[in-house]
Amino acid sequence: MASLASIGTPLSSSATRVLFCGAGELGKEVIIEMMRLGVETIAVDRYPNAPGMQVAHRSHVINMLDGEALRKVIELEKPDYIVPEVEAIATPTLVELEKEGYNVIPTAMATRLTMNREGIRRLAAEELGLKTSPYKFADNIDEFKAAVEFVGIPCVVKPVMSSSGHGQSTIKTDADVEKAWNISQNEGRTGKASRVIVEGFVPFDYEITMLTVRHVGGTSFLEPVGHHQVNGDYQESWQPQPMDRTVLDKAHDIAKKITDALGGRGIFGVEMFVCGEEVLFSEVSPRPHDTGMVTLISQDLSEFALHARAILGLPIPNIAFRGPSASKAIVVNGNSDKVRFSNLDKVLEIPDTGLRLFGKPELNGHRRMGVLLSRSTSVEKALEIVKQMRNNIKIDL
Ligand code: AMP
Repeated sequence: MASLASIGTPLSSSATRVLFCGAGELGKEVIIEMMRLGVETIAVDRYPNAPGMQVAHRSHVINMLDGEALRKVIELEKPDYIVPEVEAIATPTLVELEKEGYNVIPTAMATRLTMNREGIRRLAAEELGLKTSPYKFADNIDEFKAAVEFVGIPCVVKPVMSSSGHGQSTIKTDADVEKAWNISQNEGRTGKASRVIVEGFVPFDYEITMLTVRHVGGTSFLEPVGHHQVNGDYQESWQPQPMDRTVLDKAHDIAKKITDALGGRGIFGVEMFVCGEEVLFSEVSPRPHDTGMVTLISQDLSEFALHARAILGLPIPNIAFRGPSASKAIVVNGNSDKVRFSNLDKVLEIPDTGLRLFGKPELNGHRRMGVLLSRSTSVEKALEIVKQMRNNIKIDL
């Protein structure tokens, strides 16, 4: 058997093959890092020309929630590693494939638990004893009203099967209760009626993503990433988020406990709320995190490069942090299949800045199409620069 840290020749019988379930902007960056290391990459997503498909050796278009279709592609490609990039995957199929000997990153159990807010919340709060906001689950309007009563107003409502703010709303007064239920039932990931979590609203001072990488040499934490969200979608992120030593220690402790419980190798984005000295666990992604795109400019090894190294069993002896940095998502509204970004000479004239355009083939409504990056002498300055870059970028639909 080949040693853990060996890589073959792509497109030959010795190839190290990695199959990505999900080929969006985060997957695209991991694929590029894998390509640099001479890995054979296969991108799978639900639509053609997804960002990651544009850089992988080959691709397949399937409904990844269809277990049979997913199994067929995996049995055809026989990858050494299966790397989920999104939550909406037939995770029971991944659990079966892992039992049959396939290597799912970080583990099939981690992808199954984090696909559903209930699985991960119960693991964190009820098994690991991590502090979270108060919460209750509900399947129908009566249970929902009782849950709101139990948790108290203000509270946040989210379908258990959702992400990026879909179906999420905040109840501020009694008048919002019915509205919040309707939003959760009509706008979640599946578009079908579904179970919701009602969470106490946390009046946090700031929220962070603790990027944590489990690799052959142990667990490493990245500098904490602070971020600003609107309607559950990230707008800007920065690194490092200033934190007191004791608060940072608590955040590391939470991140270590939850990532140890999920196991395997790879990067995790552990989301937390900080209120004074208190740190509350919110959720975790067992994969690169969108707010972690700031690491494309802040570190020698980005979260994507670290994920690739960890997956392949390569050592991560150090992570060099280059200085205060910021990212700003380029979110575009409208309808087009020929978006053009211009005035880029102006956007990139400032030193220590960067740009990623994801190459998404279509825009229908509201979509993240790129990210702006900057590194400066302080987080405040870096944030000012990415905002200035956003003002300068011209977008034609
Ligand atoms: P999530 O999809 O759970 O990450 O939620 C998206 C964003 O909504 C978070 O990053 C927070 O800014 C906000 N949010 C979610 N849950 C809560 C909560 N219980 N209290 C306050 N804000 C929340």
